Amino acid sequence: MRTIVRIAGLLAPLALLPGTGHAQSTADQEAKTRAANIAAWPDAARSLFGQKTGPASMQARAIGSYARGCLAGAEALPVDGPSWQVMRLNRNRNWGHPALIDYLEKLARDVPRITGWAGLLVGDMSQPRGGPMLTGHASHQIGLDADVWLTPMPRGRLDREQRENMSAVNMARSDWRDIDPRNWTPAHTRLIRTVAAEPKVERIFVNPALKVALCREAGADKSWLEKVRPIWGHNYHFHIRLACPAGMASCQGQEPPNFGDGCGAELSGWVERQHNAIFNPPKPKPGPKPKPKPPMSLDALPPECRQVLVSR
Ligand SMILES: [Zn+2]
Repeated sequence: MRTIVRIAGLLAPLALLPGTGHAQSTADQEAKTRAANIAAWPDAARSLFGQKTGPASMQARAIGSYARGCLAGAEALPVDGPSWQVMRLNRNRNWGHPALIDYLEKLARDVPRITGWAGLLVGDMSQPRGGPMLTGHASHQIGLDADVWLTPMPRGRLDREQRENMSAVNMARSDWRDIDPRNWTPAHTRLIRTVAAEPKVERIFVNPALKVALCREAGADKSWLEKVRPIWGHNYHFHIRLACPAGMASCQGQEPPNFGDGCGAELSGWVERQHNAIFNPPKPKPGPKPKPKPPMSLDALPPECRQVLVSR
């Protein structure tokens, strides 16, 4: 069961590869999926949170945990900054706890110096009130997670349509065992190492193929790689997760990482499982498909999330 879930989790993002279809149809397709999910489960937490278009005007608080929670008093990352641009604006997921907004703005300011790029392309953060989403992502629920594209920001401003349609670049090699050297550069390693060095950052998630390169390029000091965890997908973007802001009792963080650098047998296990899932996927069992599990209900979230939902 666990294997099936993991493989499904891997193949789902592969089915949504940017560049495999016309991207406008991806936005349309997403809108259809959102509508279908609302119709199928109108009372699910993801339907309730997924239809909120603005933040709860309450004191800023991350409530609950990354994959089971919500966000009060969210701020939006401006869609344009001196060295960042927010992508996929139709999703309205450029919201976060003010600590995340501050951190991303600071990181973006440093990016030209660290990488030589013009800046960052920022992908999904949280919904205006956090919570579960109608498409994609189990986490990103409390305003402390952000996906940052591994494609450097172009020098010019992208218009709205380009922000929906522009494809991200796959950083993994075609065998999914290492990076594609045509796309991956030393600047990628410098950027991820800089983010890992920030004490407020609790975890970074990257595809196993990318971690292979990070381990190789790290040289002697691999200690920063402890925070950089392999996960399916994350070959177009990397995922930054901040720790709970100090003293915020409503926020449940994760244990500090305690995995070592993870560059040895653990990583090769991930790489091989991923390779097999892509190139030797298990045959689907004959017979009717098992019914999908009902999505998370509002009762599964911390009780304060009801307040966040109804607040003005
Ligand atoms: Zn993410």
